[in-house]
Order: sequence, then structure tokens, then C-alpha cells
Amino acid sequence: MKTCFISGITGQDGAYLARLLLDKGYTVHGGFRRISQAETVRLDKLGILSDVQLHEFDLADANNIFRTIGKVQAHEFYNLAAQSFVGASWEVPVYTSDVNAMGVLRILDSLRTLAPETRFYQASTSEMFGQVAEVPQRESTPFLPRSPYGVSKVFGHFITRNYRESFGMHASSGILFNHESPLRGTEFVTRKITLALARLARGGSEPCVLGNLDAKRDWGFAGDYVEGMWRMLQQDTPGDYVLATGVSLTVRDFANFVAEALGMKLDWNGVGIVEYAIDRKSGKRVIEVSERFFRPAEVDLLLGDPSKAAKVLGWKPRVSVQQLAEMMARADYEDLG
Ligand code: NDP
Ligand code: GDP
Repeated sequence: MKTCFISGITGQDGAYLARLLLDKGYTVHGGFRRISQAETVRLDKLGILSDVQLHEFDLADANNIFRTIGKVQAHEFYNLAAQSFVGASWEVPVYTSDVNAMGVLRILDSLRTLAPETRFYQASTSEMFGQVAEVPQRESTPFLPRSPYGVSKVFGHFITRNYRESFGMHASSGILFNHESPLRGTEFVTRKITLALARLARGGSEPCVLGNLDAKRDWGFAGDYVEGMWRMLQQDTPGDYVLATGVSLTVRDFANFVAEALGMKLDWNGVGIVEYAIDRKSGKRVIEVSERFFRPAEVDLLLGDPSKAAKVLGWKPRVSVQQLAEMMARADYEDLG
């Protein structure tokens, strides 16, 4: 029986990965941060809170990481912990860099000393492609990050590769494009839309206030993506893999899918900062735009090419972006009932 450690187990991906690995018979250990109230709601929602073994774990604390790695001696270590919100990374750039960049090095160096045979997964991101050098983006596409988050993740990516090349460690990076679910944090645009529109569908009147509606993302379902992470660590040789759907849509397109799933039909008016959407049936103002949600630098277009993952890992996403929007809208609508 295998043992794994998941940092960031209380997050969206951590919860789905924990469920997948429990189903596969793993003993699942996970790291959570010491905060005033333990945030285990996602593990609870998936019904696995009592099945995982939780350890206090903070990427900012090298000694804590060292001790935890020595204690657990996992076969596989998935580093999913991060300050993961791009928007916040301009407000807390030093913290973001410490956790997302140095945190990876702290883990790798502890593994090198205490558990060099442990297989390691690093949660890299399409945000590293930033002002994209080519379309679609693949493993060989150069990184041109556009946020402190993206910059910090480039360090995490390269230090993972460096430890693989320097010390022969089984260390892999998944360059994952945006993936969402009903467990997604409410600050991310997809969940922000599904929650706000579900409230409107339940009789509310507050419009959803967004930023750049023209940004294009390649959105998939988190449950599909954790399967890809696991497959990377089952390979004989470590490597880097893009996980994506190969379909890119605007924020506006995603909002249209959500509206449709909730029985609305959006009519769009105006352009830029004065754009808004009205539900044709109820006449309610559903979407507005505010400068508040624009970013100092934007990643305009992300579109991934997952053909290496398909070929080597046999991985492919099962849920389309429209099905994803429906799944998330339905979950929020039901939760509000
Ligand atoms: P979440 O924000 O849902 O989860 C992040 C996790 O990291 C949470 O458990 C959080 O704990 C934990 N964490 C934050 N700071 C620290 C710290 N200092 N020490 C220890 N733990 C910490 O993110 P996702 O699950 O969506 O993403 C998982 C990983 O994948 C992240 O690294 C993210 O950057 C990356 N990624 C995500 C993509 C996506 O679209 N979802 C795309 C590409 C990469 P707490 O609950 O206490 O905040
Ligand atoms: P990201 O790709 O990791 O930054 O994921 P987000 O869900 O935070 O943002 C996706 C895209 O939606 C970005 O281009 C944002 O600029 C855009 N966006 C537009 N309005 C909003 C908003 O109100 N909140 C967030 N989070 N993003 C928004």
C-alpha cells in the first residue's frame, strides 16, 4: 500500500486529489495551515475528512517542512499548496514569492536529504506563459509571466526541473491550465459568476460585477486534472506536462453558459468599462463591469495543447467547459436552496 502527502489538501485540487488517491487505496496525509479556524469544508463536502491524516504544514517554515517529510516518508509528494490567486499577488508579492517559489525549494531540499526516492509533483501553471509567445501553448513554449504569481511559479517550475537534473530525483511539473469545480474559491471568475447568478436566479437583485470580460481562458474540470497529476508520478521517468482542454473562451462566453444553465438569456450592451448584461426574461441587470477588477497586467489569452499528456499519460479531459459551467451553476443554485 502506498503513502502520499498532499500539501494544500484543504484547497480545491487537494480535496479532489485526496479523494482519488483514497479510492486507489493510498494512505493519504495532507498539510494544512495553522489559521484561526481550520478550513476543511472541501474535505467535508467530499465526505473524506475522517479518512485523511492532517499535519500542520506551512510552506513558509523550512523546519516544519523538514520534520513533516521525515515523519511521513511518503512514496509520493504532491505540492499543491500556494498563494494561488493571481489578483492578490500584486497586493502580497513578497509573501506570494516566498510561498510559491522558496516554498518549493524548501520541500525539494528536505526531500533530497530525507527521502530522495519520494516522487514529487509540482503544481505549475499556464500563468507562466503570460504574454503568450505562441498559440497554443505547449511544454516548450517560453515563459513570459505577467504577475508576481506567474513569476513565482516560474521559479518553482525551474527549481523542480533543476533538482531532477542535478540529483536524479523523480520530480515532475504539471503545467495546468485553469481548472474549476463547485469547490473553486469564490474569488476566481468562474465561481464568482456561478454564485452571483445562482443568487439572482433565486430571487436576488445584486448584479455580478466583473473586470475584463474579453480575457480568454482554457477552462477544464478539476476532477479530471488531478487524475493527470497522479498519472505523471506513475511514469518511469519524470517530466513536464501541459494539462488543458484545447478550447479557449472569453469570460463573457462562460457567463452566457452559466446564465443558460440557470434559465436566463443575457443581452449584452455597451463596450469596455460600461458594458453590462440584462436577463431578457426577468429584465434584471445580471453583469456589470468595474475598473476595480481589472489587473495591473493581464494575461489576454490562454489555450493549451495537451497532446503530450494524451500521448504519454493517456490523459484526456472528460468534462467540457459548457458542462463545467452547468455543474457549477447547479451546485451553487442547490446550495442556496
Ligand atoms: P487553492 O487556493 O484552492 O488551494 C491552495 C492550498 O494551498 C490551500 O489548501 C491553502 O490553504 C494552501 N496554502 C496556501 N498558502 C499556504 C502556505 N503558506 N503553507 C501551506 N499551505 C498553504 O488552489 P487550487 O487547489 O485551485 O490549486 C492547487 C495548486 O495548483 C496551487 O499551487 C495553484 O497555484 C496551482 N494551479 C491551480 C490552477 C487552477 O486553475 N486551479 C491552475 C494551475 C495551477 P488554506 O485553505 O489555508 O488557504
Ligand atoms: P487566473 O487565470 O488564474 O487569473 O484566474 P481568474 O479566475 O482569477 O481570472 C481569469 C480571468 O478572468 C482573468 O483574465 C481576469 O482578469 C478575468 N476576470 C474578469 N473579471 C474578473 C473578476 O471579477 N474576478 C476575477 N478573479 N477575474 C476576473
